[in-house]
Amino acid sequence: MADIHILPQVSAFLAQDHGQFIDGQYQPTANAERLPVVNPANGRTIADVASASADDVDRALESAGRALQGDWGRCLPAQRQQILLRLADLLEAHREEFAQLEALTNGKLIGDARRFEVDHTCVFIRYYAGWATKLHGETLAPSIPSFAGEQYTAMTYREPVGVVAAIVPWNFPVMIAIWKVAAALCTGCCIVLKPSEFAPLTLLRLAELAHQAGVPAGVFNVVNGGRQVGQWLIEHPRVNKVSFTGSVPAGIAIGQAALKADLTRVTLELGGKNPAAFLADVDAERAVDGIMLAGLVHQGQVCSSAERFYVHVSRFDEIVERVIARVETLRIGSPLDETTQYGPLANQPHFARMQALFERARQGGQVLSGGQALVGDGFYVTPTVIRANGHDDPLMREEAFAGVLSFMPFEDEEQLLQWMNDSAYGLSASLWTNDFSKALRLMRRIEAGMVWINSHTIMDPAVPFGGWKASGIGREFGSAFIESYTELKSVIMCY
Ligand code: NAD
Repeated sequence: MADIHILPQVSAFLAQDHGQFIDGQYQPTANAERLPVVNPANGRTIADVASASADDVDRALESAGRALQGDWGRCLPAQRQQILLRLADLLEAHREEFAQLEALTNGKLIGDARRFEVDHTCVFIRYYAGWATKLHGETLAPSIPSFAGEQYTAMTYREPVGVVAAIVPWNFPVMIAIWKVAAALCTGCCIVLKPSEFAPLTLLRLAELAHQAGVPAGVFNVVNGGRQVGQWLIEHPRVNKVSFTGSVPAGIAIGQAALKADLTRVTLELGGKNPAAFLADVDAERAVDGIMLAGLVHQGQVCSSAERFYVHVSRFDEIVERVIARVETLRIGSPLDETTQYGPLANQPHFARMQALFERARQGGQVLSGGQALVGDGFYVTPTVIRANGHDDPLMREEAFAGVLSFMPFEDEEQLLQWMNDSAYGLSASLWTNDFSKALRLMRRIEAGMVWINSHTIMDPAVPFGGWKASGIGREFGSAFIESYTELKSVIMCY
């Protein structure tokens, strides 16, 4: 099959001069440094973006501060809701354009780009829009006795936390950014977003659409760059909250820097080494479908993907053989070809890191299938099936983030739970069985922020998401996000 036709507006957007989106428009920058945007399907640079200077970061934050003190601070909840609903409609109207940009600049299969970066993202925007009109405090009845006959009443307000600095990764740029942008806008905050240096373009386009949807100047700004730009944001006194999604080491550094910067509020959505466990009674074909879903969507570059697979010893050989047969028939190819089932990794450093991991696994004699880069242009690797050398094998402990499925048999369920929980991380886990009473008993003992039964990686805006242990601090979605995008103000009145 062939690649789909690229829309003229996608080519035109790629050819634009890309810089920072500050105060409702693109702003020139004094910084000469450019960040290349590379197509991972062929390794060619297809655009570039100006990296922000410290002055640009200042200007973006000042603009956000002004908006907060100005009209945006007085904007009614229903107006904020309308703006978010318009943004969802606009994103939907530009569905194909966003999907193509994402496939071209990030290697996401075009179907996944349409489904996740646009369709699911719109579900999230509309969910958050609903919250704008439902945020509330409480009235409280004080018990303190009066001195001279006076009475007291008390209430709480949810005030916007203020200016949010959001730092996001490359794997689902639009969807992950929206988790932060929509949360900020529905609670009345302003936001300065720093995309990953590997995937800035769709977020610049998102800022344009947000402006078109009626987001006032200064409320949603984008500054580009790598770690240094992130650090300028975190350390800036105008920032009230940092919302970060990314790797564990970066998250720890960012958490420390935020607290050091006068206790700036911080939430961290980090990585993991997520387990999926298949009990003795599972249906083999359902298990294999589950493993493909849990481990290989977007070439395994999903934070909640499973990378540790525990299969009951009585079913181990049968299920692993079927998984190998399935992965070896996956059509690897261009993300813009609608028949492709497995695309490239998203960027060159990640591709190089995976080659080193494959080399280690080959030396350990553990590769059952795949474990290699494809010859030719682009950052293509095979999906990989590994037999782990025991529970302490680094392949069962370190996040690969690239479709590397490490398998281990287990015999009894107590041992299974111990292995699942013996990890520095606790982002997600899944349990696969037809025995629901057993699932309910085991599920309560799994140490993870998200546990699926007979599924994996499904996320919904109504269901809080976040990590235990080194996988993060705080929650997105549900009503849980409200706490981290607002400050609680208590008022006591005497009469
Ligand atoms: P990364 O941590 O390298 O970078 C993420 C972002 O942080 C980028 O914008 C980067 O420029 C910035 N950054 C990195 N170090 C920084 C520092 N010291 N100070 C300020 N900014 C800094 O992660 P990545 O490679 O872009 O993404 C992959 C990782 O993200 C994986 O570990 C994955 O598990 C994790 N992730 C987690 C979730 C979640 O919701 N829990 C979702 C997606 C990805």
